[in-house]
Amino acid sequence: MATRVINISNRLPVTVGEKITKSSGGLVAALEGLSADEYELTWIGWPGAAIEDPARQQEVECVLSEEHGCLPVFLSEEEVAGHYEGFSNSSVWPLLHYMPNFMRYDPAWWDHYHTANQRFADKVLEMAQPGDLVWVHDYQLMLMPQMLHERMPELKIGFFLHTPFPSFETFRCHPKRRELVTGLLGANLIGFHTFGYMRHFRSTVLRLLGLESEITRIRSDDGHVSAMGVFPIGINSRKFDETLDTPEFAQRRDEFVQANAGKRVVLSVERMDYTKGILHRLDAIEQFLAPLTPDERDAIKFIFVSVPSREEVEEYKDLREETESRIGRINGTYATLNSSPIRFIHGSVEFTDLCALYATADVGMVTPLIDGMNLVAKEYIACQREHDGVLILSEFAGAAEELANATLVNPYDARAVAETLREALAMPAEERRACNEPMRERVLKFDAQHWARTFIQQLATAESPLATVAEDINIAAGQLRQALEIGAPIALFLDYDGTLREIEREPRAAAPTPEIRELLEQLRVCENVEPFIVSGRSHQDLELFFPEPLIACVSEHGAAIRRHGERDWEQWDRDISYAWKDEIRELLRVYEQATPGSFVEEKRTSLVWHHRKTDPEFGTWKAHQLAHELGTMLANEPVKIRQGRKIVEVVSSEISKAIAIRRLLHERDYAAVLCAGDDQTDESMFEIDVPNFISIKIGPEPSRARFRLRDPAAFRKFLRGTVATQREPVTASTA
Ligand code: UDP
Repeated sequence: MATRVINISNRLPVTVGEKITKSSGGLVAALEGLSADEYELTWIGWPGAAIEDPARQQEVECVLSEEHGCLPVFLSEEEVAGHYEGFSNSSVWPLLHYMPNFMRYDPAWWDHYHTANQRFADKVLEMAQPGDLVWVHDYQLMLMPQMLHERMPELKIGFFLHTPFPSFETFRCHPKRRELVTGLLGANLIGFHTFGYMRHFRSTVLRLLGLESEITRIRSDDGHVSAMGVFPIGINSRKFDETLDTPEFAQRRDEFVQANAGKRVVLSVERMDYTKGILHRLDAIEQFLAPLTPDERDAIKFIFVSVPSREEVEEYKDLREETESRIGRINGTYATLNSSPIRFIHGSVEFTDLCALYATADVGMVTPLIDGMNLVAKEYIACQREHDGVLILSEFAGAAEELANATLVNPYDARAVAETLREALAMPAEERRACNEPMRERVLKFDAQHWARTFIQQLATAESPLATVAEDINIAAGQLRQALEIGAPIALFLDYDGTLREIEREPRAAAPTPEIRELLEQLRVCENVEPFIVSGRSHQDLELFFPEPLIACVSEHGAAIRRHGERDWEQWDRDISYAWKDEIRELLRVYEQATPGSFVEEKRTSLVWHHRKTDPEFGTWKAHQLAHELGTMLANEPVKIRQGRKIVEVVSSEISKAIAIRRLLHERDYAAVLCAGDDQTDESMFEIDVPNFISIKIGPEPSRARFRLRDPAAFRKFLRGTVATQREPVTASTA
């Protein structure tokens, strides 16, 4: 059966006016790459007009869903103004493009953005079924992944950002930065055009939300995993290649060649947008023209195709006025009696004409100040089948990473761009061909369809958090109950922080709550049940929390034990040498000094360098460096070097929770043994191999344990429901 794909973009590929007209944007072409046998596609989006009459809405919905496979989301004029023109285009867009000076913000826009995202999500949920693939597109819908994930975690949700993702220093300017990033993290797969954008996103997630990530995945606090990937979008290559074979194309191409006979043509095609660098390009063109003689000026023509865009937004109106006035001035200054240098078209051109323009232009001048990808650059190359023009490409376009053979420029450096243009016009034919051939091959091969297919395939295999769930916890409950019923002894080895008790920022604040004291008391008085707290904390810490020896405590991962009913601690590490500490103390101090916010903690069995309060990226980087250095220094010592949550710890390898537990298991036979823990140091316990062994991981991270519970509260509930039901406690708060 075909997999259902629900595709959501702000705009549907149709526009509803008097009639319904289809558009043929890049995304439509891309999705044609998904085979109909494998995928059943539904498209959700805004139909391009504010339709407020309910009867008309119903009619439109009917036609769109039956004839076009689309489901419309209706927005009022005011909502479109707030969500699209306001929040999306005047607030998020400029920031994503490193232009905080263009960013405006109105809190009312946020409300509309939130409502619109919710409306889109509701529409998806009306039809979604578990196992569906949901693909959300672009910056207008950044909240949707989280909204969908909360309501239906069984969905596989993909998000693709068609713009750049800027550095944290820029993104942090946005008043809703946290909400936007959290919204994206609901996705199972987040796609970017380039590695650079993905790197900025990871860094932003770390700095805003404190979430560490691996290169291609981020795990949220609730265990949800968002994979990340680089998927550079391609063009509709087939359409370009086929058009180049048509007689209409040949005719237009010949007409252009004739019209421009004796001239070199430099072409720019773009939406009229301040990110495209139009004014900067005009500076460069002025510098290029200034030294030319009138004859030389007659021999060159600049064609600007500027597609009208977002004209309701103030900055765009200003840009159009400024562009027109600058072009007027340049043409006025450099025109001869025969021609003027710049032909400016403020409008769209027919597709065949566009192909003919691309195919005949001597230079494609694509110089955005910043651009997520820039398809025009790829389209220009795709059309260089015979002519071999030169692509001058801004190094700030995502496309520059793939089109490395293009002539790359810094669009801010007008003089250099002018010089590059001069060189491009003089470049020999073989050189041009040698540059273009590999680029053209790449552009034709990795097209829009390829892009959509790879994204959807990766989304389909994205990790589902539910898949990491271990065996059914009721099996563990059954094992315990059975042992209790026959009156056989049971040992409970319980980690404390993160297992019995929720983690606190300040470790000393994690004292047992009355509820935990009561639970421990219930366990203690159960016949045949022997509970132990097995902690990484020092015995001084444990004494503070458990001053009365009512429950057995093992401290520092097994270095000492205070048995049930005894006040003194038995030291279990007497024969162990800690001489290695003297070797590394000085090194740790050097790191402490060089990494502001970090500090060294000395425990009896270990030395720990903490970097929780440092700059997160610098801290992690220094932690890797330290771990590496320690590894070399201590290669022959009986120690383990552990990089844990914001720490680097050097600990004696002769001590571990597992060693301590095995020692206790030698002292007495148990019919069932339970070990529960939440972090890496608890993993050694889960390897113990005795009959009727129950290992429980608390939390979402990968683990060797057989069973898993979500958090300490769930674990306490489990203990209460299994072991602690056996007998009422004598007193309620003595542990
Ligand atoms: N384009 C168009 N009509 C025109 C000129 C260009 O539809 O008259 C198309 C062009 O073929 C390209 C797209 O507009 O596919 C522009 O995409 P690009 O990635 O370069 O920039 P964006 O507009 O997405 O920022």
